[in-house]
Amino acid sequence: MLPNAEIQKILAEIDEKKKRADELALEFRRLYQESQEAYAEGDGELAKELSEEGHEAQDECEALNEEVADLYRELRDLKRQTARISVLPQTALQGMPVSFQKAVTDTLNTLPARHVSAKLIERVSYSDRYIVGSSGNPIQANTNFNKVTGKATIVINRQTPTGFKSLGNVEIATAHEVGHVVYREILTDRQKANWNSNFNHPKGPEESFAESYRYYYLNREKLAKDFPLAKIFFDQLNLE
Ligand SMILES: [Zn+2]
Repeated sequence: MLPNAEIQKILAEIDEKKKRADELALEFRRLYQESQEAYAEGDGELAKELSEEGHEAQDECEALNEEVADLYRELRDLKRQTARISVLPQTALQGMPVSFQKAVTDTLNTLPARHVSAKLIERVSYSDRYIVGSSGNPIQANTNFNKVTGKATIVINRQTPTGFKSLGNVEIATAHEVGHVVYREILTDRQKANWNSNFNHPKGPEESFAESYRYYYLNREKLAKDFPLAKIFFDQLNLE
């Protein structure tokens, strides 16, 4: 079933159960009331009977309310999933080993939805190329920004001349690239200036931001231990 159809079904179920629970609540209150009246009039036998009926109705009512609470929980999970589906950028990762494709999409899913929204990221794609940077290390991913729309395209490259070897590295590369997007598209000028003057890096402040970003979202404890000031800075950015 499509998530939206499933959501409609659950909402209808919740409605029905709530209606029945409300009826039962009226009923058991009425029964308790009548039981008290019967008792006051000296009819102990009837009072006991009515009170037992009241308890039965109350038990049924409470069970229904619990079912309703479970359904609401289910509904929240489903809504979270559909929100994800609609904000995740287009991915075009064919050609990568499936486990590596999954590592990329799982990583995107662990980041705040706002950071991987289709409004900011047009595409996450696989280039099938092996590119070595000036340092002699492979460039595992890079990001291009569309000059007109400002939207980003994240490109994942090979890790070795023949393909891939580390799932951990593809996760790191993916989160790092989203860090570039957040730096350019989400930080305010003031936040950027503040970061730039405090956290420079041989490769420039944007690079150090992207690295801190991936630490913050993939391994926050390590960031707190190794770069406590960067961790505090990120906490205060309130990016989520
Ligand atoms: Zn970078």
